[in-house]
Amino acid sequence: TADPSPIDLSGLNPAQHLAVTTTEGPVLVIAGAGSGKTRTLIYRVAHLLDKGVAPESILLLTFTRKASQEMVWRAGELLGENCSRVMGGTFHGVANMLLRQYGSHMGWGKGFTIIDRADAEGIINLLKSSLEMGKGDKRFPGKRIIINIISGSINKSTPMEELIHDQYGHLADHCADILRLGRHYHTFKRDNVLMDYDDLLVNWKLLLQESPEVRSMMSHRFRYVMVDEYQDTNLIQADIIRLLASEHSNVMVVGDDSQSIYSFRGADFYNIMRFPKEFPGAKLIKLEENYRSTQPILSLTNDLIANASEKYTKSLHSNIKGEQRPIVYGARDEQAEATFILARVQQHIRDGIDPSEIAVLFRSGFHSYKLEIGLGAAGIEFEKRGGLKLTEAAHMKDVLSFLRLLVNPRDNLSWNRVLLQLDRIGPKTAQKITTTIVPTFDPFLSLKNYPASKASVDIIAGLADLFRELRVTERTPAALYELVLNYYTPLFERLYSDDYPKREKDLEHFKGVIAGYDDLQKFIDDTTLDPPAPTADKTPDGKRMVLSTIHSSKGLEFDAVFVMGLAEGRFPHANTVGFGPQWEEERRLLYVAATRARKHLYLTYPRQMMTPDRQFKRVGMSPYLVELKDMLYERVEGSSTSSLSRPSRFAESNSPRPVGIPAGRRSRPAGLKRADLSLGTRVKHPFFGEGTVKKMPGGPAIEVEFEQYGTKALHLDYAKLELV
Ligand code: ATP
Ligand code: MG
Repeated sequence: TADPSPIDLSGLNPAQHLAVTTTEGPVLVIAGAGSGKTRTLIYRVAHLLDKGVAPESILLLTFTRKASQEMVWRAGELLGENCSRVMGGTFHGVANMLLRQYGSHMGWGKGFTIIDRADAEGIINLLKSSLEMGKGDKRFPGKRIIINIISGSINKSTPMEELIHDQYGHLADHCADILRLGRHYHTFKRDNVLMDYDDLLVNWKLLLQESPEVRSMMSHRFRYVMVDEYQDTNLIQADIIRLLASEHSNVMVVGDDSQSIYSFRGADFYNIMRFPKEFPGAKLIKLEENYRSTQPILSLTNDLIANASEKYTKSLHSNIKGEQRPIVYGARDEQAEATFILARVQQHIRDGIDPSEIAVLFRSGFHSYKLEIGLGAAGIEFEKRGGLKLTEAAHMKDVLSFLRLLVNPRDNLSWNRVLLQLDRIGPKTAQKITTTIVPTFDPFLSLKNYPASKASVDIIAGLADLFRELRVTERTPAALYELVLNYYTPLFERLYSDDYPKREKDLEHFKGVIAGYDDLQKFIDDTTLDPPAPTADKTPDGKRMVLSTIHSSKGLEFDAVFVMGLAEGRFPHANTVGFGPQWEEERRLLYVAATRARKHLYLTYPRQMMTPDRQFKRVGMSPYLVELKDMLYERVEGSSTSSLSRPSRFAESNSPRPVGIPAGRRSRPAGLKRADLSLGTRVKHPFFGEGTVKKMPGGPAIEVEFEQYGTKALHLDYAKLELV
């Protein structure tokens, strides 16, 4: 028989080719942004299939579900056939699937419900009130911090006491209570058959670790394991990979230590460094050519990361010519920054760049509000990624809680949520009903028979009727959703009387999402694990430009990229203390952002910003920009007359009249010199106010403790300090 025609590997460079064709044994690809790591994985999937490997035995782990879908799809294109049977997804998604399949080996049922961050916080609130904790104590830590501690302890494999001691010293007094809450939280989840994101990973690992039978089964099932973005995995995930590969060691991981940006979730780029130790004999492959960006962009991003204190990857080179250096734009204020970006976006669209090839990136969702208004006024459609998810919104959670009960009637949290929506039922009653009906054999039946008070008897009966309807078999998820909406809409208009029309749009939009499902459990898992973005203003053609948090832009590329808000006090984040790991992570965050650009890169900042206490202050550019060599970018300075005094800010769209300042003549603001200072010197900063010099580790770096903002790391070269 003739060999199947091999796929064309000529589009790979020698190092990539080696990574693709080394199919047996452990392989580590460590390389900078845009060097083709993801592309290499795609080719490798195609190559394996081409060699006759069964698609089911390939496991491809990526950072988002969308990424894996796209990669599998592209592998199929190379191969000329559909290979959707390749097992692709996120760690959490795959964990969910496997736990439902193999969980019985550990005594877990299939019917667990996955809870998200907001649910977890809701449980903490329930527990706090039922344990009567923190009542009237203003200093008692909030639900967010408590979940951070519980989750951090798991992801960093550190006991909670130690974590509190190291990172939350100010909560030492509450340590015993936090530990107790942590224990109750775990019991609550167990009793209600709930798993949070961390449980998915922890239990997957447990399953592999504790059951040799399952371990061997899974390892045989997935003969080829591949992981993209390995720098953002944590210790638990690394253990999972090791256990999964126990029978064959056919693992390829790819990553870039310079792009590690998830340490707050316990990710640890040392995982990359440890890989050769965990897999002795691992082949190390480095990729050094960048195929994404023009050389001027690459020169700047190389310089950005060259200043990092720890790095392993080399500097990259590119063969893509380009004249235009990245532009650093200092706008008069945030409004002017938005105006500038808008004008350039319009220019690029006029020049023929597809809007979907333009992205504006920022640290947090709210940084782009001014720009969003401008884009709206100019009629430019955009898609916003990252930030709050649609399913985290209260009204979406309300509706979903009905559906969640259908797959897990023991889910206290959802019962509580459903009951609280009802007229005349307060938290006390809701809790009483929940604790009465949930432990019974059939909570729905118990609800129907619940001895409700006169005031609420009709309401409870109505709810019981709804559930009776919903539980009639053979209804599609879409039909169930429709029934819930009919019931919920009148409640909802009362619950959210001030803005229900806007929320109603979301509920409508969701009809389209749910229509794509025929399995309710799968729908609920997906909405929790990989929620759809809020897309109420969606256009069908999908040609929209992208507004995204930097975290959500990982792995992507665009012709034109704007990174906004690069001002001191905002980048690094104002909470960044000292020049430690956080400072370095913020630098990597900027590196990730800037390396998304193919042809055009803009780094913008406002020269005046509102401080958290609502005062306008003058600020300089981010220290990471200050460190860059001047010749690597073109500096454009916005007009300094107030944009606020102009009649219409967005009418005169394409003329911010940039004033170019020749490279090398960038004026550094005159501040204090090292010789002016010693420990204890009192200084004043234009943004942070007055403070005291606390550390002078050497060079231009100092640490100042500010009265209002706490300890900040500053560079004397640019921080406009004055003596007090
Ligand atoms: P990141 O670290 O940002 O995730 P990456 O290393 O995964 O980047 P890819 O996204 O795989 O890089 O590749 C970047 C771009 O370079 C893509 O457009 C890809 O198609 C292209 N590319 C990679 N290798 C080659 C090659 N050998 N020939 C042509 N184009 C290539
Ligand atoms: Mg990639």
